[in-house]
Amino acid sequence: MDQDVAAKEQPRYIKLNERDNVAIVVNDFGLPAGSRFACGLTLRAFVPQGHKTALVDIGQDQPIIRYGEVIGYALSPILAGEWVDEARIRMPEAPDLDKLEISTAVPAPLPPLEGFTFEGFRNPDGSVGTRNILGISSSVQCVKGTMEYAVKRIRAELLPKYPNVDDVVPLTHAYGCGVAINAPDAVIPIRTLQNLALNPNFGGEILVISLGCEKLAPERLVPEGVSDAIVRMQDEAFDGFGAIVDAIMTQAEARLKILNKRTRETCPAADLVIGLQCGGSDAFSGVTANPALGFAADLLVRAGATVMFSEVTEVRDAIQLLTRRAINEDVGRALVREMAWYDSYLARGGADRSANTTPGNKKGGLANIVEKSLGSIVKSGSSAITGVLSPGQKATQKGMLFAATPASDFICGTLQLASGMTLQVFTTGRGTPYGLAAAPVIKVATRTELARRWKDLIDFDAGGIATGAKTIEQTGWDLFRLILDVASGRTKPWSDRWGIHNDLTLFNPAPVT
Ligand code: CA
Repeated sequence: MDQDVAAKEQPRYIKLNERDNVAIVVNDFGLPAGSRFACGLTLRAFVPQGHKTALVDIGQDQPIIRYGEVIGYALSPILAGEWVDEARIRMPEAPDLDKLEISTAVPAPLPPLEGFTFEGFRNPDGSVGTRNILGISSSVQCVKGTMEYAVKRIRAELLPKYPNVDDVVPLTHAYGCGVAINAPDAVIPIRTLQNLALNPNFGGEILVISLGCEKLAPERLVPEGVSDAIVRMQDEAFDGFGAIVDAIMTQAEARLKILNKRTRETCPAADLVIGLQCGGSDAFSGVTANPALGFAADLLVRAGATVMFSEVTEVRDAIQLLTRRAINEDVGRALVREMAWYDSYLARGGADRSANTTPGNKKGGLANIVEKSLGSIVKSGSSAITGVLSPGQKATQKGMLFAATPASDFICGTLQLASGMTLQVFTTGRGTPYGLAAAPVIKVATRTELARRWKDLIDFDAGGIATGAKTIEQTGWDLFRLILDVASGRTKPWSDRWGIHNDLTLFNPAPVT
């Protein structure tokens, strides 16, 4: 069936760099053997959409080149027009962290972009939220059920009285007890919880629900100078569950009253903190959605915003391209430090970088992590990298930052929230219903076929770039404008319209006990 459908369109492929000796098939559902491209190349086998065909004969052990970079070596001779599937490619070694060029190709500052604004909620500390949410923290998983019970009642009984508040979100998690709280790596989950509560979308209102006997003392989640912010379930003053829930609701209402005074005001785009992520990637990710996002990221950087890209295992194999863009030696060294930390983290678990690619990535045409990484880093645009954040660290700089996180969608989302991200743009080729309760997520499809099929899950279609219907620049500008609209609350992404959100998921590389 697929081959019949495929044969009706003019066969097209995309070659990204003049050095490339492979190109990916553009046509929906792929192309059958015998398909002839405009250049005269004829396919010798069926090639699925997004998969690679050889443009020239490639000898055994010769490099296979995409994005102008080596993505692997031919395990056996490959003829022009054959399908270059993952089984035919030997993966290259990861770049040696001791031999990287640092700050050797720092891009010149991009021309400033003036006059772009959004409607945001300005906080006393100067940060600006895109949503007005009461976030309720917890110091231990034991209280999760209680919090969810209380939040259900807060939503039903209190929230309608405070129309300027968008939502109440319980910041629940699996951490807090039964963990090696003093292990060196415990700094990551603890810092993440501390900084999550400070996300600009929560307006600086802190409330922590605690059990009372947990290892993570709830005081550690309350910033200095804030008092009366903890409800401890084991407090002897509480006579039964009802009294505990009443206490949570009383504390919540006091904060809802304050948050309800917040209203949107016009803020420069420089006040945005935008997170970039991808998930369910395919071979089009690096051709359509990520380049468009990279263009939009450059616009944001030019407007003075903070933008962060992440996912260590998806930049590790292209790190040599990023350290050159580090604005100075310190930032370059910090990039290398985060890569080295993750290499040893993976080694401790008996895994390596090849653990990243999923069956869906491979089905979508991504042969290995090298190819995936080259397509992934494109979303960081073309500006200098101005800062590096360790997992869960709060961003304090402007410009393009690398926020070190795992590539796991929900962990990356959680860590970017802790870093202060107030809106995330998420590119996907295979499709995911991913969403976050604490910040809006714009989902961008790499292919029009996906955007059509998931018309009520995908917010933005970047697929027109592959068919030539739109340029990267046009698509990037459209995406930039959508970011301002969603940040302003004028447009609601699909995940928020349906109310479908992923769990907060902490990154805990430390032992559990
Ligand atoms: Ca991801």
